[in-house]
Amino acid sequence: MWLAVVAAFALDVQQGHVIRLEVKSFTPGMTVVMDDRSIPVFSRNGAGLALVPVAVTATPGTHTLEIRDAAGKAVEERKYQVLDAQYPTQNIVATRAMKALRPLPGEVESMRALYARKTPEAAWAEPFAPPVPQCANSSFGVQRLHNGKPTGNYHRGLDLRSPAGTPVKATAAGKVVVARMWRMHGGTIGIDHGQGITSHYLHLSRLAVREGTVVKRGQLVGYVGATGFATGPHLHWGLYIHGIPTDPRAWAPGITSCQPR
Ligand SMILES: [Zn+2]
Repeated sequence: MWLAVVAAFALDVQQGHVIRLEVKSFTPGMTVVMDDRSIPVFSRNGAGLALVPVAVTATPGTHTLEIRDAAGKAVEERKYQVLDAQYPTQNIVATRAMKALRPLPGEVESMRALYARKTPEAAWAEPFAPPVPQCANSSFGVQRLHNGKPTGNYHRGLDLRSPAGTPVKATAAGKVVVARMWRMHGGTIGIDHGQGITSHYLHLSRLAVREGTVVKRGQLVGYVGATGFATGPHLHWGLYIHGIPTDPRAWAPGITSCQPR
């Protein structure tokens, strides 16, 4: 028999979005296991909260998740539906210089280490702030083609059509763990917001904070540019939950869409 540990539960979730599990009878060390992934349940406002990311690549249909105690014993099982988000495709015209770009030593590793962080304390609070005031000209989740050829890759963030030099603000409070002028990602800020939430800001012309800086929501972290793998000035904003790219718009309401340029 299952204990009724879960208070709030959305049974339908789109690819690239997040299931929020509020665990009423929370005990430390609980985990949620889904699709062979284990997600920690963190303490939040006197209860437990698990943010369970559903990948863009998750198969539509019925899935099962299991809530386990610290000893690994299942205390509850739930079924949920993954809905096909019907992400469109988008062609990117990459120049020869863009195609020749290779990451610097440590570049890919530093980003992976950012996404993998599991800081138990939450610095974040909702709603998240849009990092720049402009509209989105390339949505999260679109299947990417480079010069008409499928890449097998999808857009892991949101592109905001922002002029070069626009101040970029932290979407939520946290600690800056990446502040580098990388080659592929370009000028990069990566922030750990705690409890498995990280954000990053790419292609920046200039950085305004150093690694280790603790930032508030809305604090200046850098300036929009076109550095790295970019066809022109814009802000690429990524929001990963437990290392899985999710749609940033689900966290910062009010961002409008505009045509690609
Ligand atoms: Zn992008």
